[in-house]
Amino acid sequence: MKLGIVGLPNVGKSTLFNSLTKAGAESANYPFCTIDPNVGVVAVPDERLDKLAALYDSKKVTPAVIEFVDIAGLVKGASKGEGLGNQFLSNIREVDAIVHVVRCFEDTNVVHVDGSIDPMRDVETINLELVFSDIEILERRKAKVVKAARMDKTLQKEEQLLEKLISHLEEGKLAKSFVCEDEDEEEILSTYNLLTIKPVIFAANVKEEDLSNDGENNENVKKLREYAATEGCEVFVICAKIEEEISELDDDEKAMFLEDLGLAESGLDKLIKASYSLLGLISYLTSGEDETRAWTIKKGTKAPQAAGKIHTDFERGFIRAEVVNYEDLLSCGSLAAAKEKGVVGIEGKEYVVKDGDVILFRFNV
Ligand code: GDP
Repeated sequence: MKLGIVGLPNVGKSTLFNSLTKAGAESANYPFCTIDPNVGVVAVPDERLDKLAALYDSKKVTPAVIEFVDIAGLVKGASKGEGLGNQFLSNIREVDAIVHVVRCFEDTNVVHVDGSIDPMRDVETINLELVFSDIEILERRKAKVVKAARMDKTLQKEEQLLEKLISHLEEGKLAKSFVCEDEDEEEILSTYNLLTIKPVIFAANVKEEDLSNDGENNENVKKLREYAATEGCEVFVICAKIEEEISELDDDEKAMFLEDLGLAESGLDKLIKASYSLLGLISYLTSGEDETRAWTIKKGTKAPQAAGKIHTDFERGFIRAEVVNYEDLLSCGSLAAAKEKGVVGIEGKEYVVKDGDVILFRFNV
């Protein structure tokens, strides 16, 4: 599961990516600085893990991870091949969801590719490139389908869908807002892997002063929020520069730094968590002397398949799962106490695992 970080040049993508991964990807004050996409594996912050590890005296703590890809320099004309545009667009096609970084900070030392700070214009520029790229994909498909439909009448439905979709996109609208007539159309649509259908989170990159009140005084952020609401997307206010500084600190220093800024949690941590849930992912937890660990599953996963994340033997030989909610376990103080209180469930094959379930699997080998 991968998220792509997109946005115009000089909006702070690499700075954000660096703070996400501390990988030191190149960040420079000029467009096209990073041509190859950089992939970073990022730990999903989870306060529950340390507390659980303390309870079990675990030697090791292993968080869940997600991947971020820094997709550099989408520019106006990218879909026409400007500035290696097509390469960037095909990189976006490979991700499951998009973090769209929008510049809401003023800084005369950092040039804006279009000369001024105007987040809504920037969002439109990026969206249009994605729309154009989708149209191109659909036109190519249509050319094939029209030809084949002469022999194979079952393709007529797809031909009609393609026509409707293309005219929808030609109005500058995203594929996300296209309403299918029936399940057949939905199924065909899902095979196209369109860019403008992918889930999006907006990261509003603001100056430090705008952080403490979550961008409430920043007109650009307000406009972005209004727009995002119409698309059903969330907006997270971050300051990429501050996040980069925070990423250099150890945990105690970080807590102090955030307190000084009047924040309970860094914008980046919120963004990572939101990205995880945007992908439809949740974590269940396992804990013991050796390790406390978060395991990533898709929402709706049943117990045997969740067990299969640990080992295929766990899935094959699944007998039952002993499940206790994290909060209950912590308030009881131990698994034995939780059992006594009757809050540990014995669950079978049909049990749908929930976020924050602490699980012990029983299985045959
Ligand atoms: P990218 O082209 O979108 O990847 O942008 P970069 O991350 O390379 O940032 C471009 C320039 O903007 C760099 O000089 C950064 O130091 C600067 N920059 C990034 N984020 C911020 C921020 O939050 N505030 C300010 N003032 N400058 C920033």
